[in-house]
Amino acid sequence: MELNDKTALITGAAGFLGSHLCDRFIAEGCKVIAMDNLITGDLRNIEHLKKHPKFTFVLHDVSKYVAIDEHLDYILHFASPASPIDYLKIPIQTLKVGSLGTHNLLGLALHKKATILVASTSEIYGDPLVHPQPEDYWGNVNPVGPRGVYDEAKRFQEAMTMAYHTAKGLDTRIVRIFNTYGARMRLNDGRALPAFFGQALRGEDITVFGDGSQTRSFCYVDDLIEGIVRLLHSGYHQPVNIGNPDEVTIARFAQEIIALTGSKQKVIFKPLPIDDPKQRQPDISRARKILKWQPQVSRHEGLKTTYNYFKNLPTDEWFKPVHDFQ
Ligand code: UDP
Repeated sequence: MELNDKTALITGAAGFLGSHLCDRFIAEGCKVIAMDNLITGDLRNIEHLKKHPKFTFVLHDVSKYVAIDEHLDYILHFASPASPIDYLKIPIQTLKVGSLGTHNLLGLALHKKATILVASTSEIYGDPLVHPQPEDYWGNVNPVGPRGVYDEAKRFQEAMTMAYHTAKGLDTRIVRIFNTYGARMRLNDGRALPAFFGQALRGEDITVFGDGSQTRSFCYVDDLIEGIVRLLHSGYHQPVNIGNPDEVTIARFAQEIIALTGSKQKVIFKPLPIDDPKQRQPDISRARKILKWQPQVSRHEGLKTTYNYFKNLPTDEWFKPVHDFQ
């Protein structure tokens, strides 16, 4: 399977991961139809592709019927708010894009005889009772908590995708994405990594939630994109975890960012948000075996590159308040 001269619809294309996917697909000679409703996405992330002959942007909310005239080989569904603070602000849109949006795109894929890859998440494991998390762990999710709108939409998305595969023979892929970072994350999306970098750049104290003993495992964006492309080409229909198993406590992570940025500020502790998972680490045995994939970029290296990106943003970007999107 090649991407050269194929056509892909990428939803959430102006977002963090969507824009990196657009870059990769264009680099491999694929024609890209980039779709986004720009609620949390930003056209600046794909500005550099605007004039490329194989790139088209369509402003559309995939929760509404999606009409595409062209033949499609691939659909990659990456449209969704993805930070806890975003889904608190736009819970209904979060539910709709994962459920109705997925349904529309599955229908489109069927109609076009396209292969569809949907972006799922480690959030489907909730606050996990099994550690690290393998794909056959079913999770521990609070459906009515603040994260429920994202977690349950993504769980429904997986169920719906699998149903289209088993009932209709659609060629489907499900990637479970663990915490990922890199250039084009929104500095004000409230997540730990952009929050800490933003605070360091503004000379503010670093806000660790809870006692900082909760863990996450951060994957550099280039590694993630490579895993996704391999999954697309694999023909494998069960969910696959893609993430970096190098787990770290949030307290230690804050110290790493302080060391990297040379920040003189101190760590201050704030209350832990409701249902904040205590631990998270992907079991990537399946990805290693089936995709021959594992992350290549160390956290030290990835954080340096990401810091350079944030540092070089126009200074007013550093000062945009959290929640500053339409
Ligand atoms: N976190 C923190 N300070 C912040 C933002 C987040 O300590 O300013 C914590 C958060 O409570 C969580 C971890 O960092 O335990 C990762 O949070 P993030 O929002 O990045 O992702 P998620 O919880 O979805 O993995």
